[in-house]
Amino acid sequence: MMTPMRVLVGQGPEELKRLLSEFGEPGYRADQLLKWVYRPVPSIDDMSNLPAGLRDRLSREAVYHPCSVVTVRHSRDGTRKYLLALADGELIETVFIPETQRSTVCISSQVGCKMGCSFCATGSLGFVRGLTAGEIVDQVLQAALDVGSRPSNVVYMGMGEPLDNYDELIRSIGILNAPWGLNIGMRQITVSTCGVVPGIRKLGREGLALTLAVSLHAADDDKRSRIMPIARAYPLARLMEALHEYVANTKRRITIEYALMAGFNDGRQDAQRLTDLLKGLLCHVNLIPVNPIPGGLQQKPESSQVVRFENWLRQGGLEVSIRRERGADIEAACGQLRGQWEEI
Ligand code: SF4
Repeated sequence: MMTPMRVLVGQGPEELKRLLSEFGEPGYRADQLLKWVYRPVPSIDDMSNLPAGLRDRLSREAVYHPCSVVTVRHSRDGTRKYLLALADGELIETVFIPETQRSTVCISSQVGCKMGCSFCATGSLGFVRGLTAGEIVDQVLQAALDVGSRPSNVVYMGMGEPLDNYDELIRSIGILNAPWGLNIGMRQITVSTCGVVPGIRKLGREGLALTLAVSLHAADDDKRSRIMPIARAYPLARLMEALHEYVANTKRRITIEYALMAGFNDGRQDAQRLTDLLKGLLCHVNLIPVNPIPGGLQQKPESSQVVRFENWLRQGGLEVSIRRERGADIEAACGQLRGQWEEI
């Protein structure tokens, strides 16, 4: 039986030490290898201070990057969207968003998604599998290789529900944050969930200083379950209880994502319900004018209505901002690029 190939991205110092001691290499070689793995470089051949014999053996017996770029789309605003292929041929999406003071990579945590939110292109693709920590981290490395520098921020907001792939999520956060890994500050990492209550509670108990973002999108159970099936399993009362517990455990402010859909959740009464629901929770509301997907029913509200909704929340005492749309000309919403690719 053939031994499965070892994948370098996703390994920590101890695992690399074990691998190189199996190869009969001295301990310091593992430190050299570790520095290259997360630097990153395109291939094992570029790891110039490793002896040629070791590079050859690694190239034969291990895989460095578990993801490869299939296509990149460049937006007029500088946003880049990658379609990446995994070793089993599955496709995922990653987005790089440059800003004045920082740069953010939006990464996927699963191939497809089980959650079936009606406004999301990924939801309509169905679920295939969770990503390994290496596949999650490699999305950041691929973007870094493409743009020539490490991003300052990472958001788990691409394809998939990160809390539905809990162990690999935690492992990947550890690598992104580790000084030997990508050394990205915990406060620069955001995990976005559609409201998986047991996962939120578990994550809160980890006590990490990351930012939790929760896709709420409606402030009553009936409306929410019409667009997000998860709301039937975890109604708002349970979700809010978990969020209060999360803040108590982590002392971190939660980001509430609210996608505004014309005529559905953007009225005066919706704003009032949202204000009442969030009263007393340490949070910031992000309003996102919905990005309509092909075949979807949701429409984007007029910008005057978005501003009106923002003001209603402000008057109700909430902290709120409107998220600027990025990469609209390249279908940067999650799942859109892969969907188009499969239609070709
Ligand atoms: S919005 Fe997120 S949780 Fe919902 S279907 Fe899309 S990827 Fe899954």
